[in-house]
Amino acid sequence: MAVDRYDVLVIGGGPGGYVAAIRAAQLGLKTACVERWIGKDGQPALGGTCLNVGCIPSKALLESSEQYHRARHGLAAHGITVGEVAIDPAAMVARKDGIVRQFTGGIGGLFRKNGVTWLKGSGRLVGEGKVEVAGTDGAAQTVSAEHIIIATGSRPTPLLVAPLDGVRIVDSAGALDFTDVPARLGIIGAGVIGLELGSVWARLGSAVTLLEAMPEFLPVADRAIAALAHKELTGQGLQIRLGARVTAAALAGDGVTVDFEDAKGAQQAAFDRLIVAVGRQPVTDRLGLDAVGIAPDERGFIPVDGQFRTSAAGVYAIGDVVRGPMLAHRASEDGIAVAEGIAGQHCHVDYGTIPWIIYTWPEIAWVGRTEQALKAEGVPYTVGTFPFQANGRARAMEAAQGQVKLLAHAETDRVLGVHIIGPHASELIAEAVVAMEFCASAEDLARIVHAHPTLSEALHEAALAAHKRAIHI
Ligand code: FAD
Ligand code: AMP
Repeated sequence: MAVDRYDVLVIGGGPGGYVAAIRAAQLGLKTACVERWIGKDGQPALGGTCLNVGCIPSKALLESSEQYHRARHGLAAHGITVGEVAIDPAAMVARKDGIVRQFTGGIGGLFRKNGVTWLKGSGRLVGEGKVEVAGTDGAAQTVSAEHIIIATGSRPTPLLVAPLDGVRIVDSAGALDFTDVPARLGIIGAGVIGLELGSVWARLGSAVTLLEAMPEFLPVADRAIAALAHKELTGQGLQIRLGARVTAAALAGDGVTVDFEDAKGAQQAAFDRLIVAVGRQPVTDRLGLDAVGIAPDERGFIPVDGQFRTSAAGVYAIGDVVRGPMLAHRASEDGIAVAEGIAGQHCHVDYGTIPWIIYTWPEIAWVGRTEQALKAEGVPYTVGTFPFQANGRARAMEAAQGQVKLLAHAETDRVLGVHIIGPHASELIAEAVVAMEFCASAEDLARIVHAHPTLSEALHEAALAAHKRAIHI
């Protein structure tokens, strides 16, 4: 039987892999993508973690829960009285599933439009330029390709002391499918995923406790922003227990008991449901890396150079399976860059300007360096901050929590970092990313006209504040 031959074969159809495949096809390369995911409806699905059990479904539930919470608690301030407000979690989850199916199906449409072949099944490297595909239909085939891009992504890191049962003890994927609101919800890990999922169920009425082993809250964020986030989130009722290391979790009666240790010693807590959200690990098992001589690093990531080349000729790796921020937009930018590199174009992603977002209320978003990083590196800097309390639009929205903090180089005035906690921080951060990509100074941002009244004026004022000339504070 003739072996199908491609210019580019991508293993993994998440936001890294499917974007790489589309870009490679746009550049005239004969491209296939191997993807094995089976959706909740039992059908093969593209889109990876992000579309199926990550970014999109979590944002759908965050939006629904936010609307519910606002209807119950946020409308009185506007003089609006509503009758009894109820939530149907099953309907909320069904809406989420509909959005997921629409988007995963949409990727299939994009593949057809761009001429990308989807090989439904599991890919495994079996030699130089050769990949064996074990089809979801049971059939196996071997395909060959000049360039192979590994985009196999990540999965939740298991916590051996807290084995999942899929109903009461679940990972982040299971937590997107609760069809009732647990009265007491425990979450192991107060990272981005733990905080977002905790927010969803707390808004719907769960008493949420997050057990976090680290003594510091959100160590990746700017300290001042993390402190404000901690105050806001605990003020909303999230119990965040820092320095609490979980040592055991087990089903007990109708619920779950969790043993943990903190500064006070050994403790126990009881919950109705428990989410294990202790991070994600790269997926490289049964991928045949040894067949082409690739050795993962000590944490399981595939080592690559600046052009995403692995140690094996013609094999590249991108996204969550490679060290760096485990973010969908980063994976997609890797995908575009690697495809363009293969086509002989420039191949580069600026990791210094990747935005981070936590979709809690208020949202938290940042780009560039934190104040603590600048201090540690001995970089001279100036700080400009501006509170949303003094922003007319935020006040009109009844959403004036938080602030914008801008860090600029003390001598060159170049913007080094922007950190926002506040309404629509996820959208506001885009201006800061553009500014940093264009090497803007704080003065550049200060001199750009910002429409009034908008939330973006808070960034404008923070840039003015860096020069001690904010107008409205
Ligand atoms: P993945 O999306 O993990 O895709 C890898 C794909 O490869 C999978 O579909 C898998 O089935 C397939 N695969 C693996 N091995 C094989 C094989 N051998 N053969 C065939 N196919 C294979 N990021 C954000 O930027 N914003 C967010 O708001 C956000 N929210 C998140 C919320 C949650 C709850 C979670 C869990 C994650 C979230 N993320 C978010 C992270 C984001 O989902 C990941 O960073 C992103 O999906 C990584 O993309 P990827 O293409 O590298 O890998
Ligand atoms: P993230 O990497 O952002 O998804 O966050 C995962 C969090 O889980 C990290 O902050 C870890 O410190 C935390 N974590 C890991 N293991 C444990 C444990 N046994 N008990 C409590 N928290 C943990």
